[in-house]
Amino acid sequence: MRVVYASSEAAPFAKTGGLADVAGALPPALARAGADTAVFIPLYAKCRESGLSMEKTGVRLNVSVGGMMVDAGIWRSDIGGVPVYLVEQDGFFDRPELYGTIYGDYPDNMERFAFFSRAVIEAVNALAMKPDVFHVNDWQTALIPVYAKTVYENRKLFRHVPCLLTIHNMTYQGMFPAQRFPLLGLDWRLFNWREMEFYGRINLLKGGIVFSEAVSTVSRKYAEEITAPEYGAGLDGVLRERSGDLYGIINGVDYAVWNPSSDVLIPARYDADSLHGKAKCKKALQKEMGLPVKKGVPLIGMVGRLVDQKGLDIFSAALDGILKLGVQTVVLGTGMEHYHRVLTRTAAASPEKLAVKIGFDNGLAHRIEAGCDMFLMPSRFEPCGLNQLYSLRYGTVPIVHAVGGLADTVKDWDASDGAATGFCFHDYSPSALLEALRRALALYARPREWRRLMVSGMKQDWSWNRSASEYMSLYSRILEG
Ligand code: ADP
Repeated sequence: MRVVYASSEAAPFAKTGGLADVAGALPPALARAGADTAVFIPLYAKCRESGLSMEKTGVRLNVSVGGMMVDAGIWRSDIGGVPVYLVEQDGFFDRPELYGTIYGDYPDNMERFAFFSRAVIEAVNALAMKPDVFHVNDWQTALIPVYAKTVYENRKLFRHVPCLLTIHNMTYQGMFPAQRFPLLGLDWRLFNWREMEFYGRINLLKGGIVFSEAVSTVSRKYAEEITAPEYGAGLDGVLRERSGDLYGIINGVDYAVWNPSSDVLIPARYDADSLHGKAKCKKALQKEMGLPVKKGVPLIGMVGRLVDQKGLDIFSAALDGILKLGVQTVVLGTGMEHYHRVLTRTAAASPEKLAVKIGFDNGLAHRIEAGCDMFLMPSRFEPCGLNQLYSLRYGTVPIVHAVGGLADTVKDWDASDGAATGFCFHDYSPSALLEALRRALALYARPREWRRLMVSGMKQDWSWNRSASEYMSLYSRILEG
């Protein structure tokens, strides 16, 4: 199985979010499962700054975009033994950020990613790759299936290559004003409501959905949810039409990085058979965050973007109630200014109960996973979510809003069910969140049962190998048509 995997970011070269983690970990897992995989990403300034070694392939291309021919160079590097091809075009990609600055998105993002999508197709041709499948991700590479089946349909090489589009978050669709459609170099006839138009605007993700043989998202539940108006972000109708070709495959965890038995970023190591190290991690975290060092006080953690999607609205509304529960809470994240203010103000008023760090700090994220007793993820919607998977492995019981990947990976506590791994709540409200926390605290007061819950989470396997084998089956299925 030869797979060309195109993404607008991949760790460790360039990362803004979960997509980079997937693009950095899935291709090596596919290779272990027997696929011959090649990854394509843009050559951003950040890729050069990463210090990772890369070399010129000698391939130079002329790619049509916006009615002009733009040149591209192809560089080669690797992730875990899988070749990574970086598309060089400094006018488009040698910029400080990937997609934009604090003032907004780069105004030419449509041309940048139209160029990248065409460059991938041209490079596959120039490098004489013969892919069985194109696997593309999100709106930035959603034009690959569109180009492959229109502009390039007469090229023998691409005519029968099926495409899988993976959507990592429905809310980002790549929408642009209609008058810019000619810049894509596509026939105007594609600008219609069944293909690439969305209420008078260009919608690149929609084009990708329509022109791909199959569409997947990063959990089964989210795949169902996005076919309904509440979570479909306007494309639920398009997805309902494709429901026979819509799949959900959960993301995996890189246990080489997120594993309390080998994690060098935490103060003490532990595993499901020996939990002494976890108590040390808790003590060290309380100290680091300036909270009173108290063994018996439940410590709740939260890490992530401080935005509405992550449930910050119900969390901040429930915060006074949480502080009255006799617990300590630590929060790490960045996001909306409003939530920064609410959290820092509350922490200043209750320094013994709430500690907040505004910022991005990978080491602290590991120490919170290791040192806390519980981990809160009240997301309004969650395509997959990674932190609950890390929490399971670190014995930090997840408390989650039962949506998307959270619903698929956390099994609600029930005394009669030995398979439970956490606590779920179903209403998206501060009172439901508080009720779930109260249930968790009631169990925390029964140490033997609590430990059983922790250990059943720690023993679960959410590794990439599982997900890779599901992708392999899906590739075979779309290949067979
Ligand atoms: P997202 O919707 O942001 O992609 P995920 O849960 O899928 O959410 O992945 C977020 C990743 O980024 C996790 O690995 C998480 O630990 C990390 N992360 C998010 N915010 C921070 C932060 N402020 N500091 C350190 N790591 C963070």
